[in-house]
Amino acid sequence: MKQILEIKDVSRRFGGLQAVNKCRFSVRAGSITGLVGPNGAGKSTLFSLVSGFVRPDSGEVLFDGNHIEKLSAHDIARLGLRRTFQIPRELKQMTVLENLLLVPEGQFGDQVRSVLLPGKRVRDEERINLQKAQGVLEMVGLGEKAQHPAALLSGGQKKLLELARCLMADPKLLLLDEPTAGVNPTLIRHLMAVLRRIHASGVTLLIIEHNMTVIMELCERVIVMDRGQVIAAGTPVEIQSNKEVLDAYLGG
Ligand code: ADP
Ligand code: MG
Repeated sequence: MKQILEIKDVSRRFGGLQAVNKCRFSVRAGSITGLVGPNGAGKSTLFSLVSGFVRPDSGEVLFDGNHIEKLSAHDIARLGLRRTFQIPRELKQMTVLENLLLVPEGQFGDQVRSVLLPGKRVRDEERINLQKAQGVLEMVGLGEKAQHPAALLSGGQKKLLELARCLMADPKLLLLDEPTAGVNPTLIRHLMAVLRRIHASGVTLLIIEHNMTVIMELCERVIVMDRGQVIAAGTPVEIQSNKEVLDAYLGG
């Protein structure tokens, strides 16, 4: 069984607070894996450590068998590991489509390349990029909104836009931070269908999620964190009846 992500004893302290403490788990290539735990458990920090936005104090992170714990966020993204943020970070003054065309990572849209390549090839690349962006918007269900200003999207639609921006870079592994938080029930069903579609296209998903229905329906395996550490791992059914997990949620 190939592991696409291996987190080995990763730690990070903020002042006097040990936010992530010798955290250790793996994610199977091709899986949808859940990451749960009470508020403040260190889940979002762990995503920042894995994606290069925050440096670990110690520990190792392997992506596709390669060490990434010392690489920049930009280099990690180029390798095919992307994350979303708890609060979407869309560019408000632009349209939905423009938000996708401005994604600099990946094989398209590199400014240096447009300087080096002859004009026709630049235009070809722009056309390919445009087709790709339209395909990605269809995939997340925002095809009709391509020309809308991003600022006018609902909270849930902004999350879909953020997902679309990640997909432009052809990720192998996507880290999703609470994709359904603040999203209405109808859009949650839609988002789950979109996540299944993304998974079916070959992307491994690691999802921080509080909504147990989403976890139960989507995830083959769930990792539980509390106070910076992994306290349990198993199938959603195993996790639901685990005493330590219940204690952690009840503040025990
Ligand atoms: P979770 O996502 O599981 O709710 P976080 O990873 O956001 O938890 O936070 C874990 C702990 O680390 C919290 O106590 C939080 O306040 C703290 N923390 C997170 N980021 C920072 C930071 N940049 N500076 C200081 N403390 C932080
Ligand atoms: Mg969080």
